[in-house]
Amino acid sequence: MGAGLAGGMGGGMSATTPGIMGKDLLSSCVHCGFCLEVCPTYQLTGDENNSPRGRLRLWREEAEGKIPEDKWTDFYTSECVGCLACEPACPANVPYGHILEQTRHTYVEERRWLPKQELRLAAAAVARPKFFDIALLPARALRSLGLLPHPLVFPGATPVFQSTAAYAKALMERHRPTGPRVALLTGCLMEALFREINFATVRVLVANNVQVVVPESQGCCGAFQEHTGISGVKILREVNRRAFDGLGVDCAVANSAGCGLSLGKTLEGKPPVRDVLGFLGEIGIKPLPPRSGNARVYVDLPCHLVHGQRSTIPESVLDATGYRWEFAPCAKECCGSGGIYNIQKPENAREILAKKSAFLNKAEGDPVILATSNHVCMMQWNSARSAGLVKRPYDVRHVIQLLDSPEKNPQ
Ligand code: SF4
Ligand code: SF4
Repeated sequence: MGAGLAGGMGGGMSATTPGIMGKDLLSSCVHCGFCLEVCPTYQLTGDENNSPRGRLRLWREEAEGKIPEDKWTDFYTSECVGCLACEPACPANVPYGHILEQTRHTYVEERRWLPKQELRLAAAAVARPKFFDIALLPARALRSLGLLPHPLVFPGATPVFQSTAAYAKALMERHRPTGPRVALLTGCLMEALFREINFATVRVLVANNVQVVVPESQGCCGAFQEHTGISGVKILREVNRRAFDGLGVDCAVANSAGCGLSLGKTLEGKPPVRDVLGFLGEIGIKPLPPRSGNARVYVDLPCHLVHGQRSTIPESVLDATGYRWEFAPCAKECCGSGGIYNIQKPENAREILAKKSAFLNKAEGDPVILATSNHVCMMQWNSARSAGLVKRPYDVRHVIQLLDSPEKNPQ
């Protein structure tokens, strides 16, 4: 096993304990079961082993040598969405997400697990932002023409060539905002494929008198590697530590809940990392005028915002969109996206989404808009159409896009 993990073990734990940082962490579960009802995989299967408590027990019993390393423990470890809903539900504060992440990394390190070839290739690609950006240029071009290269990819007219960094620089020079200064995390997939959301983020920030810096040397936040257990997180974090250092900003902002959570772990408060919608709520966003027509917005909250960052999308920000909005039913529950869960476990992800998305079939509004604040959740919601779960037209939008008015915001 990885030397860093073995070093943390207490007496009685096997030297082959998979990925657990120490006896105390594994023992911290008091078996109360409060986490069961919030766990999507337990809700789906009713199988104790497919719950946080069950997984923790399997890892502990294996560490103590009570059960052998076997494919069932591997299976249940892979079944976890990584939604983190079990953490806030836990009265004993078991750091489940941290334990899961370390376990998966150790499984991969020990070759107990081999992530799918396409995931390993994707991990290598996202770790090289310039290469990734060029590799996805044809997909950006297709989206800008209204064509979708994959069922998970949602529609949107994305800029093909201009980077968010170049766009922000031009907008800053044209409008010279004088308010708080922030550094924007552009993300790997967001920048390479869904760049229009980054552009909208810059416009909304500048429209609210915020100075926007886009560090050009930034890279992937490492969330992809955290989800898959693939190595390289430390290197990616070091790249971003350097990129966001010494910028003289009030905070870094992220428009993807998962990437923001990961960047927060990297920067450790230097500077602090804020979800861009929470930040706009704090500074007091300028509201857009009420929208005419019958459009209705249903807001879903990403797990990594609610459970990971323990935050939400402020109602003042949702009001500022000018739309008639409400939270989607079960807005705080997982949509099944889980970073790459919808690629690793498509059947489970579909089942989880089926429960959440059913309301859209009867939702009022014309158009019906499903809005959230994480591009990977947007992909999952978009797939409800191709998966046949939602049989009526609906749009998927990032909340920042609803705050982006071509008439009111700087261009
Ligand atoms: S992270 Fe989510 S799926 Fe995994 S055990 Fe916790 S609640 Fe269940
Ligand atoms: S809520 Fe926490 S302490 Fe209770 S069973 Fe779940 S992980 Fe263990």
